[in-house]
Amino acid sequence: MPSLDLFEDTARQLTVCNACRYCEGYCAVFPAIESRRTFEPSDIQYIANLCHDCRDCLYACQYAPPHEFAINIPSTLAQVREATYEQHRWPQQLGPLAGGVRPLLLLSAGALMLGMAAVAALEGVHALVSAHTAPGAFYSVIPAALMELLFIALGLLWIAAWGRSATSFWRSTAARSARASLPAVLRAAGDALTLTYLGGGGQGCTYPEESFSKTRRWLHHLVFYGFLLDLASTSLAAVYDHLLNLPAPYPLWSPVVVLGTIGGIGIVIGATGLLVQKARSDRSAAHLTMLRMDVAFLAALLLVATSGILLLGLRGTAAMGALLVLHLSTVLAFFLTAPYGKFVHLVYRYTALVRFAAEQRNQS
Ligand code: SF4
Repeated sequence: MPSLDLFEDTARQLTVCNACRYCEGYCAVFPAIESRRTFEPSDIQYIANLCHDCRDCLYACQYAPPHEFAINIPSTLAQVREATYEQHRWPQQLGPLAGGVRPLLLLSAGALMLGMAAVAALEGVHALVSAHTAPGAFYSVIPAALMELLFIALGLLWIAAWGRSATSFWRSTAARSARASLPAVLRAAGDALTLTYLGGGGQGCTYPEESFSKTRRWLHHLVFYGFLLDLASTSLAAVYDHLLNLPAPYPLWSPVVVLGTIGGIGIVIGATGLLVQKARSDRSAAHLTMLRMDVAFLAALLLVATSGILLLGLRGTAAMGALLVLHLSTVLAFFLTAPYGKFVHLVYRYTALVRFAAEQRNQS
């Protein structure tokens, strides 16, 4: 739960914004605050999750530091978002997994060592150092049942964690003013899929520097749609394997490989670009804990995508066994951290966008 001081300071800053209204065309935050005279803690959490940290409002603000009003909306709302993630995560005990790059690397390295030891014990060391190219080659390194059981269990944990977080957030922030009607759900989906508000007032974000650019929006698209393509590739592989009895690996022209490769390249370009932008970004507008979570999430995606591309490129060689274990270790670390790290912004942002769409419909 955000501290009372943070709520009070955020309410103070939003009240100044409401009086000024210079930024009203920038994003969904300002239309959402215009209809309010006071800001309850539940409103503040909802509003904070509409913000996507573009910083347009900071550089446009006449009351930004060093002015005595010290209006710094991006940094303040990032603090509220961090507290929101902490309050609504489930189970609470797994929260430390979201701590940054170090837990991610420790998890990946631990899974890699355990995986290598398990394969050596179950299949023999030769499984890790010899070439396997026949259909079902991956299963001669790691048994299919073991792989499937592990990732089904992690997938269920992920769905349960996000489901609980979304329900808890909606219940605690949705006011009488908002009902999740179908049009609101669809409009929010459209805004999320097109990243409408990352367009700023039309010129893009003032991120990483104080000049407008659409680069961040395009990089975000590459990561998001790259991830969806990889998800489609994995789902198609499951259909091939279980319904058509065609186990991996698949030829280069197979839709499974084409979708996975395009998605992986999209993630590598998008995540690398976003990491470079973060390294160059203005720290005075940031909240460092949230910045660490951003970096850890992008690093997790980058590890999964690069190890997957490496595995694809070298799957016909003696390195295949070790690379398969490496790739699955990075996927495992991603699955374990995703429900608690920055990836969860998808849940809260979308839920807040549904409430925003519902409020806008009520007002019109
Ligand atoms: S940082 Fe960008 S998204 Fe956040 S409130 Fe300011 S203008 Fe809106």
